[in-house]
This record gives sequence, structure tokens and C-alpha cells, in this order.
Amino acid sequence: MNTATIDNTNNKQQTVAVIGAGVIGVNCALELQNLGYQVTLIDKDGIGLGCSKGNAGHFATEQVFPLAESSLIWQMPKLLLDPLGPVSLSAKHFVKAIPWFMQFFNNMRAKLRDKNTLALQALNKNAITHFKSVLKAANAEHLLTQNGSLLVFETDNLRTVEAMHKHYKDAGIAVKLLDRMQTIALEPNLHDNINYSLFFTDVAHTINPLAISQTLADVAKSKGMIFKQASVSKIAQSSNGVTIKTDKEAFETDHCVVACGAWSKELLKGLNYHLPIEAERGYSYSLPVAENASASLSRPVASAERRFIITPMESTLRLAGTVEYAGLHTPPNYKRAEMLEDNAKFILKSLPSKDTVNGEQEAAESWMGCRPSLPDSLPVICQAPNHDKVFFALGHQHLGLTQGAITGKLIGQLVSNQATEIDVRPFCISRFN
Ligand SMILES: Cc1cc2nc3c(=O)[nH]c(=O)nc-3n(C[C@H](O)[C@H](O)[C@H](O)COP(=O)(O)OP(=O)(O)OC[C@H]3O[C@@H](n4cnc5c(N)ncnc54)[C@H](O)[C@@H]3O)c2cc1C
Repeated sequence: MNTATIDNTNNKQQTVAVIGAGVIGVNCALELQNLGYQVTLIDKDGIGLGCSKGNAGHFATEQVFPLAESSLIWQMPKLLLDPLGPVSLSAKHFVKAIPWFMQFFNNMRAKLRDKNTLALQALNKNAITHFKSVLKAANAEHLLTQNGSLLVFETDNLRTVEAMHKHYKDAGIAVKLLDRMQTIALEPNLHDNINYSLFFTDVAHTINPLAISQTLADVAKSKGMIFKQASVSKIAQSSNGVTIKTDKEAFETDHCVVACGAWSKELLKGLNYHLPIEAERGYSYSLPVAENASASLSRPVASAERRFIITPMESTLRLAGTVEYAGLHTPPNYKRAEMLEDNAKFILKSLPSKDTVNGEQEAAESWMGCRPSLPDSLPVICQAPNHDKVFFALGHQHLGLTQGAITGKLIGQLVSNQATEIDVRPFCISRFN
């Protein structure tokens, strides 16, 4: 047990409540339980059932560039006008989203973008190494395959692809530019439409994102972590610790970590912190794949032009992507999931047929998740500036799976008052307050 977690005056084990059992909260909970804290993990729904459930499963460490990029300004009108295009902004949500978009546009400035790129590079650098060691300790190494990923291009404009290749190389990413023959040699099921690809050799994927959260939570439980299904309505810090109020009870804890993803705003507001978070809703469409089917892939394949990704999962081929700004509570529009299949027909030679798995009818599964997105594309990982017993681990936008284990590590270091492995100042909530 790490002595940093023991209160020497009465030898009492320190307690931590982690609110939110997505991939971020679960990684924080496991790390803190490993450090010797008595952890209570709380979620309104269950473990891993929020945005961490149906995502693309890509440990996308090559994604070190913030989403706020100036070329988007010119593309936005076209992107937004197509109701089933890759980006959609609901008319009802438009006014509410204006302040977020103002900050998003502000983050396109070169100086801020460069600064945010450096912060993302630092966070992603050892993200896969950390995840591998967490999964190894959980005897769940099979949940991560490090086989690289492809970004495929339908354009025949080699210059465009070369420019992007250079952009990634300059950012220190391990990447190779492949022509059509080389690309198809790697993934024979790719369509002849594909002219080039960027092969990110060091990245990884999982065959089951939900199993990652649930397996790690099971390991933490076996070490003494308690899970409570409840909705937290209030957090208050006093001289004794932190009071957590849920729909079922109120209880005291020594420390608290808020990891509520896209739902974090209200809890932070109660503590007087402003969090400009948007639910960047995305969809996935999982097509069941028969065992040994030729319609699958061996690594994630993302389309540069169509802005979605295809990942081979345990028993499905998962098509995922799209961005929809419609708030947390609007019902899903599953047409956005289904349209991914039409796009996939331009990327793959053959798609799994939906009704032939073991001779049984198996339906494709549509899913919607709310990415917790901040306008600068950086998460918040910090000790609350005015509440020393409260910590935040939220806002991981498109990269929550990728950054789950490194976030857990950093939160463990912050709660136990150790030096952090990387500089966490860029991730402090103070940048919005
Ligand atoms: C289509 C799509 C594809 C994606 N693909 C990838 C990918 O390939 N790689 C990658 O790295 N990331 C990907 N992401 C992003 C990733 O899924 C998210 O960043 C990540 O899941 C966020 O994790 P989280 O734990 O912060 O949030 P969540 O998983 O949403 O967990 C938050 C939890 O908090 C709980 N909660 C909220 N409020 C309360 C409350 N008041 N009381 C109690 N519990 C509460 C919720 O029930 C929820 O379970 C994708 C996202 C989408 C939508």
C-alpha cells in the first residue's frame, strides 16, 4: 500500500468517491484503489454504459491536433447544410451552442493551436504504454491489439496526402505513406476507390470498448472498490472532507473525483466552476460478422474524405463517427448511424451481410454517444483550484478511450500529492475561469 494515502494521525484508510463510471472514471477508480484508497465508484446508469460503450475502439494517439482548425471555417457551411453529412447542428440547439462555437473559433488561432497540440502530444505519448500495463495487470491483454491503423484517401491528389503525411511526421507521429497496392496488400477488403493511405504504425484498437470499462471495474471491485448506482446531485467540500449527495443518500468522503463526461457541467456549476462543455454526439453502426468472414479488417480504417472510421470488433464490424450538436437530451437520430453503411460501401469491397450469422437473423446495432467536448480539444485533469479535496477528470472529447489509463495515472498522482508524470497545467479548469 502506498504510504501517501494513509492518514498517519489515526491510521485510517483515506476514502475517495469517483463520480462517473465511464472509461475515465473506471481508470481513475482502479488507479486509486491500487494506491491504497478505499474507492466508491458511482454512476447513475451502470459501468461503461455512457459514451464509453459503443465508440470506435481506436487508441488514436496520432490525433494530436486540436479540432479547431481554420480551414473548417470555409468547410462549415457546406458540412452543416447537409442534414446527413458528417457534421450537424440542430436548429433548436443553435443559440445555446453559440458561446461554445465562439471559443472553438478562438482556439483556431495559431498560437493557441500550437500550445494545445503540444499538450495533446504529451498526453498521448505514453497513453498506449499505460493502457497496456493496466490491461496486463488485469489479465485482459487480449482487449488491446497494437496493429496500427489506416487513414485512407479516395483523392488521387498525391500532394494533399503528402502534405498530411508531413504534418503528422513533423508532430513526431510514426506514419508511412502507402500507395494503393501497398494499402490493399495490408487490407485486402479495401475498395479500389482507395488511392493512398497513411499507415500509423504504433496505434492500437480494442475489440470491445465496453469490456474494457467493465473488466477494469471488476478488478477494482476484487481489490475492495464499492460500486453504487445512484445519480449525484451535489458535491460540497467542508473542513472534514467532501459531502456527496445522491438521489438515494448523502455521505462523506475524504476526496472526490468528478468524471461525468458530457454530464459534468451541473456538478461543477454547484462548486462555482464554469465548464464550457458540449455534447458532441456521435454514432456507431455495428454489423455482425460471421466467424472467419472475409468482409472484415485487421485494423481500424478511417476515411479522410468521409470522416468516419471502421473498426473490427469481437463479433462485429463497427462503423463510427459523425458529429451532431443537439444537446444532451434530444433523442438520437439513428439515420445518422445508418448512413455510415452507405459511406462504408465506398471504402470496403464487401460489407458483412446483416442476416447470415450462423443462419440466424442478426440486426445491425445503432448507437449514439455524447462526446464530452471542450472548445480547445483538451480535457480537464486537475485538482479543483478552490477545493483541494476535489479533482476533475473530464472533457476527453474524441479521445477518452485513448487517454483513459494516462488520465487514471495522473489523477492518482494528483490525489496522492505526488509529482505528475507530465505537466498537467494545460489541463487545469482555471483556463475557463
Ligand atoms: C461515435 C464515437 C466514436 C468514438 N471513438 C473513439 C475512439 O475510437 N477512441 C477514443 O479514444 N475515443 C473515442 N470516442 C470518445 C470516447 O468514447 C469518449 O471520450 C469517452 O467515452 C468519454 O469517457 P468518459 O468516462 O469521460 O464519459 P462517459 O463514458 O460518458 O462516462 C460518464 C459517466 O458519468 C455518468 N454520470 C453522469 N452524470 C452523473 C451523475 N450526476 N451521477 C452519477 N453518474 C453520472 C454517466 O452515466 C456515464 O456513465 C468516441 C465517441 C463517439 C461518440
